Amino acid sequence: MTLAWIGLGSNLADPQAQVRSGIEALAHLPGSAIRAQSSLYRSKPLGNLAQPDYINAVVSIETALPPFELLHALQTIERDHGRDRSGSRWSPRTLDLDLLLYGDSQILSDELTIPHPGIPQRNFVLCPLLEIDSKMRIPGWGPAREILERIGMQGIEKLKRPDS
Ligand code: AMP
Repeated sequence: MTLAWIGLGSNLADPQAQVRSGIEALAHLPGSAIRAQSSLYRSKPLGNLAQPDYINAVVSIETALPPFELLHALQTIERDHGRDRSGSRWSPRTLDLDLLLYGDSQILSDELTIPHPGIPQRNFVLCPLLEIDSKMRIPGWGPAREILERIGMQGIEKLKRPDS
């Protein structure tokens, strides 16, 4: 079993419900169990396009799925949530799932890069990662806390949990 970390993001069709439904789908992945999940965060869209804010979260799962099978399972969940890949890279999306980390693995292939190359620029990923594991280190890059201190917290807001 390997501890894998998944980032979720949505800015369409009730994004909070999309992210919650994505987490529910992760809970049902074969050979996998959720270990921890972050709060939801609101973030400004990348790419400076006029589009709605995003809702983001990070989940860690203990999984027996090898990395490429896990990636394909995440893509199936995205498709089940109606994600249309015809838009540009930064176009709005119903549900985006990124495989952020897979144990200590470093993978560089056309189909899959781990750690996910967006991590060091994305406070909406680093912040929820650190909420779950305050000592998180990103293989190849070092302590997540130091990266977050460098890029800052602008554009993101942690949402209150519905039960708090
Ligand atoms: P995106 O549109 O940002 O969701 O990117 C999806 C594409 O990125 C797919 O073609 C994946 O094969 C590729 N990809 C590479 N590394 C990763 C990763 N760690 N997690 C998710 N997708 C990845």
